[in-house]
Amino acid sequence: MEGKKWRLGVPRALFYYYYGSWWKAFFEDLGLEVLVSPPTSKEILDMGVSLAVVEACLPVKVYYGHAAWLSERVDALFVPRLVSVERKSFICPKLMGLPDMLRTALKPCPKIIDSTINLSRNPQKGLETAVRSVARTLGFSGSKVLKAKEKAEKCYKAWLAKQREDKLTAGTTENPINIGIVGHGYLLYDRYLGMDIPHKVQKLGSRVYLPENLTDDEVEEACRVLPKRLYWTLGQKTMGAVLNFMERDDIDGIIHLTAFGCGPDSMVGELAERYARRCGKPFLLLNLDEHTGEAGLNTRLEAFVDMLTRRCSA
Ligand code: SF4
Repeated sequence: MEGKKWRLGVPRALFYYYYGSWWKAFFEDLGLEVLVSPPTSKEILDMGVSLAVVEACLPVKVYYGHAAWLSERVDALFVPRLVSVERKSFICPKLMGLPDMLRTALKPCPKIIDSTINLSRNPQKGLETAVRSVARTLGFSGSKVLKAKEKAEKCYKAWLAKQREDKLTAGTTENPINIGIVGHGYLLYDRYLGMDIPHKVQKLGSRVYLPENLTDDEVEEACRVLPKRLYWTLGQKTMGAVLNFMERDDIDGIIHLTAFGCGPDSMVGELAERYARRCGKPFLLLNLDEHTGEAGLNTRLEAFVDMLTRRCSA
């Protein structure tokens, strides 16, 4: 089937915010036309809410919206069955069922590329198996696939390095306070879904630190105080960032964004708050859903930043 000029749809949601650059570079090197859905908007959110099962968490509902937006514009949708992206850790089970849930919800539903990605036993071998499976479905094999994988890895490394450096520095005050903001990447970096909280906090005159500014080693090191490793990759990343920010004298307070309907968040949010309370670092937990009002949220952010500013200048 090699040679078919696929128009492949990639939903700009969930793990797109972690691995989108990897897969986009891979598909483009294979010569495919890649269409990434536009940034989340009210239209996309409403579409997702109307299609998804009511029990779904907010980010999954948004994913439905992105897939629906793409469904009539592409030959196939890339919706991998994500099980694990690192050794002995797992992704939330809702992501494993995404391809099946979309097949039921989308009418008409284009072909779905749903290869399994499971790196829990042997990350290198697991990735190679997943890449070959995706490529085979699209009609590619051999050295062309390996070359595309190398290109994807290079692009991903460059993207990752840029993200580590990308601290949101304050521009409005001479001595800004420093705030760590933690949460799933698909809340922090989706400016509509996450209500652009990192930039809002920055505009209030704070310098913002995000989990992606930390290296994997820093996250692992910070998590050593926990009695056991967290089962979920994103839970571990969030707790690592909370614990790192808590220990640092240069971080004045922490904001934790959680998603309505998220099982892992209900546990990680509670754990993060307990540790923060223990060390006396100001901590604000914000749970977002499709009805969260912007005015109320702005007031809470302003009050938090104001409280930290007074505390630091006392
Ligand atoms: S971790 Fe939470 S927010 Fe993410 S997909 Fe699972 S339930 Fe939804």
